Amino acid sequence: MTSDVLVLGAGIVGVSTALHLLERGRSVVLFDRAEPGSGTSYGNAGLIERSSVIPYSFPRDPMALLRYALNGQSDVRYSPSFLPKAASFLWQYWRNSAAAPLEVATRAMLPLVQACIPEHDRLVARAGAEHLIRADGWVALYKTTARFNAAVAEAGRLAPFGLQYRVLTPQEFIALEPAYRPGLSTIAGAIHWQDPKTVTDPQGLVKAYADLFAANGGQMARGDAATLTEIAGGWQVTGADGATITAREAVVALGPQSGLVFRKAGYRIPLGIKRGYHRHYTQTDGAMPRLSVVDEESGYVLAPMRQGLRITTGIEFADPAAPANDIQIRRDEVEARRLLDLGPPVEKTPWLGLRPCLPDMRPIIGPAPRHKGLWFHFGHAHHGLTLGPASGRLLSEMMTGETPFVDPAPYAATRFA
Ligand SMILES: Cc1cc2nc3c(=O)[nH]c(=O)nc-3n(C[C@H](O)[C@H](O)[C@H](O)COP(=O)(O)OP(=O)(O)OC[C@H]3O[C@@H](n4cnc5c(N)ncnc54)[C@H](O)[C@@H]3O)c2cc1C
Repeated sequence: MTSDVLVLGAGIVGVSTALHLLERGRSVVLFDRAEPGSGTSYGNAGLIERSSVIPYSFPRDPMALLRYALNGQSDVRYSPSFLPKAASFLWQYWRNSAAAPLEVATRAMLPLVQACIPEHDRLVARAGAEHLIRADGWVALYKTTARFNAAVAEAGRLAPFGLQYRVLTPQEFIALEPAYRPGLSTIAGAIHWQDPKTVTDPQGLVKAYADLFAANGGQMARGDAATLTEIAGGWQVTGADGATITAREAVVALGPQSGLVFRKAGYRIPLGIKRGYHRHYTQTDGAMPRLSVVDEESGYVLAPMRQGLRITTGIEFADPAAPANDIQIRRDEVEARRLLDLGPPVEKTPWLGLRPCLPDMRPIIGPAPRHKGLWFHFGHAHHGLTLGPASGRLLSEMMTGETPFVDPAPYAATRFA
């Protein structure tokens, strides 16, 4: 098999890139060890997060740091034995979360965030995947008046970004979402963010995009990306069937596993991993909420999905290869049961996913600095589902010599090389 481009990784980032390259007349092979969307893209909360204009930063407030250090919270927990290994990443992340660099990261990410809905809309329409998309935003829920008031003030400070939102009293929230317990003493208020869209089956969406790719002449192949080698005039991998696949250019879109290629090629890129979990719960008729709700004080999401009501957890810093620890999902389940009637869990054990994160809160999108024809496309962290299509457009414009719709400079790999 020979093609112009070999895209390694069929998550939301790789599939979107492959589609954009195909649209620009390139022959493309999409290469993965498993079926499309079975990595991190399988299990996210399904938010196409148009309202997340400030990147997810490391807390700087000493009281918050102390709370996290005590390790009793559900939104972020850590495995003490992993901290020494994560120290360098955490230090860089903490430094980049100061006001000035956070402002730089916000400005850098904004054009991609602004493009997330139109870029998904276009692919959704082409893929006929409208049935997987809801266009009614998501709700941030607050359980204490202090946190609610602070959040309303913070939302006001985001006015320059022109986001659409509605502040809701507990009664207004219940009117919107009757599946939650009425007469609550547990809800102080809510903010309904109206610009975002949500996906009821994130892997289903990746598969729909992959089907569109295949229907338009894109080729798919299975195998291990660790077989990637540089050859005269291009790149080569070996498929699971032993066949050789060659291409002039290769894109590394392996999400959390991207290190297996860039490390071998000699790049020292501080790709960190934030682990996260999900589990589905069977809801009876009438008990399934309509909207995705984020319990902002406990840091989990309740997302109505095809498989049931999906609880997705916050962050766990632990060795990516360590066994799953269900403590966060158990804590979140207790909190969620206070808010609504939660049915029995669908799965025996929670799903574990790995968010690929860079410490300056932006992905790498662009050429590998010292290897001709090798391109890097990873590190989309908390917002890979959101950003995949916009980011895929940007990389394919760079690869085909078009004028990029966004200045690619902030995403260059050279910032670490
Ligand atoms: C709990 C949780 C909730 C989240 N919620 C949201 C959300 O609501 N909104 C949002 O925008 N983002 C969310 N995210 C983040 C989002 O899911 C990720 O940023 C995104 O899925 C990353 O996509 P990717 O294509 O880079 O990686 P992946 O989806 O992991 O794709 C990488 C691909 O590479 C393949 N691969 C790996 N190693 C090899 C190999 N050796 N050979 C061949 N193939 C290989 C894998 O099989 C996989 O298909 C969430 C993440 C988690 C964990």
